Amino acid sequence: MHELSVAQALLESVDRCQRENGGKVRKVGLTIGRLGGVDPEALHYAWPAALVTSSNPALAECVLDVKLLPLSFICRECGAKVKAEKLTLECPTCHRETLVRDGGRELIINYIEVE
Ligand SMILES: [Zn+2]
Repeated sequence: MHELSVAQALLESVDRCQRENGGKVRKVGLTIGRLGGVDPEALHYAWPAALVTSSNPALAECVLDVKLLPLSFICRECGAKVKAEKLTLECPTCHRETLVRDGGRELIINYIEVE
């Protein structure tokens, strides 16, 4: 499962951060782009599976808080930056079908909540 390797990579970053800063990790806030091929639900399932492979007990009760980014576009005609929930071409500013995608494959750790 693809999401398991994503979860494991994520866990490695959290692990590194925990070892540097100490404390018990409660929650990890994550923001992902809609085009990165990571399914938030599958990631939630994969997370506990990744956790059991961790040798760091300070991570054992850590939960994920996943947020999906809206899709971002830039208009090639007028330069407008547009956010939308689905793929679209029409620019809401100049009404031409000139939108191009801007990003969408992000995978960002927003915060790590430590106790
Ligand atoms: Zn436009």
